[in-house]
Amino acid sequence: MPLEQPSLHDAIIVGTGPAGAMLARELARAGRRVLVLEQGGAAPLRGTLAQMAGMAAIPGRGAFFNADGSLLVRGITAGGSSAINFATAMAPPMALFDRYGVDLRPALAALQRELPLSPLPDELIGPMAMRIMAAARKRGHAWNKLPKMIHADLCRSGCWRCVYGCPFGAKWSARDPLDEAVRHGAQLLAHAGVRRVLIENGRATGVEYQAQGQLRQTRAPLVVLAAGGIGSPRILAASGLRIDARHFTDPVIAVMGSVDDIDGGAEVPMAAGMHLPDAGITLSDLTLPRTMYQAFALQVGRADRLLAHRNTLTIMVKIRDALGGRIGPRWVSKPLTPGDREKFAQGVAIARGILLEAGAKRIFQSWHFAAHPGGSVRIGDGVGSDLQTPVRNLYVCDASVIPGEWGLPPTLTLLCMAWRLGQHLVGPTLHA
Ligand SMILES: Cc1cc2nc3c(=O)[nH]c(=O)nc-3n(C[C@H](O)[C@H](O)[C@H](O)COP(=O)(O)OP(=O)(O)OC[C@H]3O[C@@H](n4cnc5c(N)ncnc54)[C@H](O)[C@@H]3O)c2cc1C
Repeated sequence: MPLEQPSLHDAIIVGTGPAGAMLARELARAGRRVLVLEQGGAAPLRGTLAQMAGMAAIPGRGAFFNADGSLLVRGITAGGSSAINFATAMAPPMALFDRYGVDLRPALAALQRELPLSPLPDELIGPMAMRIMAAARKRGHAWNKLPKMIHADLCRSGCWRCVYGCPFGAKWSARDPLDEAVRHGAQLLAHAGVRRVLIENGRATGVEYQAQGQLRQTRAPLVVLAAGGIGSPRILAASGLRIDARHFTDPVIAVMGSVDDIDGGAEVPMAAGMHLPDAGITLSDLTLPRTMYQAFALQVGRADRLLAHRNTLTIMVKIRDALGGRIGPRWVSKPLTPGDREKFAQGVAIARGILLEAGAKRIFQSWHFAAHPGGSVRIGDGVGSDLQTPVRNLYVCDASVIPGEWGLPPTLTLLCMAWRLGQHLVGPTLHA
């Protein structure tokens, strides 16, 4: 029998990625009693390979292998994937959300006043990103610095730790609003994995979760799933709701080539790049830590390139993939469509051209991998424009609700959605 916890909260939020953390902050700031349940741990970020691997590389937890050998990664930790992401910001595509009656402009205006959203100063852009930008521009591409969610004054030139979890507080992560939520009285329970939502008479009344080896139940008049593009549809399915879990993952191929005159390999990734919205392709520099580079090289049998990390330029080719695939209780599948492959072919050709222009040799490419699962509980399908499911007082707010194919950095959009939902919920709805 699950252990019944006393009911002390106005709202339960499941998951602490950008959306869950921002919503927790908004509700707690408004004086609501919030319980936040997070499956991962909340130990301070140390920027080490071992800690990152524990968050994102455990098969079936943070990492999933497709039948074709491609990898999908997510962060299972306080802050969700933002703890290990590349910190690139892009404003929400307003027209997509306008179609569903979702106006994110007030949220964006509010968040622009508080978040770091600027391109890096030149001194924080590494020599590899600079070389790639110069080569891309020489070929006529509109390759520009990208806005980063990084406090430039705290960021260290020549550091490569952001993708392992920035230990210096320079990279924004959802731990920032989460900490603020806790300061405003929210209760954070880490290592608490939610199994299902408790539903009575068509209304959410609480959740069942596993913590410290015990199955527990706790109740509140409002439940918000913010467990990410894979976590939220799983919880909905386990709660007996029908979901069409076709989704996107924004898959990526890394195209790599070596130059003779750079000795580097330690820089902020995605410092600059270009977005081709009509083609559904984004390209950027992508200098990753040595171990990640070596994993790419090994995966495609390029043992001869294992020691070349310090002089290998890498370009990321990301595509806007078609909705598809399935999400099971312990697995995820997302095969590429012929259209996806065509986009990759086009993007990789552009990346190769830029690398050749940059003087790179021995060019090779990784297998595809992905880190943006979303669209699995879409607005207009799984939730309404207010993000409420067909179950009263049960909301979903995370990458799941993105209403269609994507292909962009999602974080800023998710923050806007959570901010908007926060405004809606601190109104009379919460106790209705
Ligand atoms: C390597 C990498 C690089 C990226 N780079 C960028 C970038 O440059 N720019 C950008 O905008 N985006 C980037 N992203 C993507 C971005 O970080 C994610 O899209 C974003 O974090 C998704 O936010 P979310 O709120 O949907 O939830 P998530 O960040 O997925 O967080 C969900 C949280 O819910 C928890 N959870 C899941 N299931 C349960 C459960 N049953 N019970 C309790 N808790 C649960 C998870 O542990 C997690 O903490 C990157 C991602 C990765 C992995």
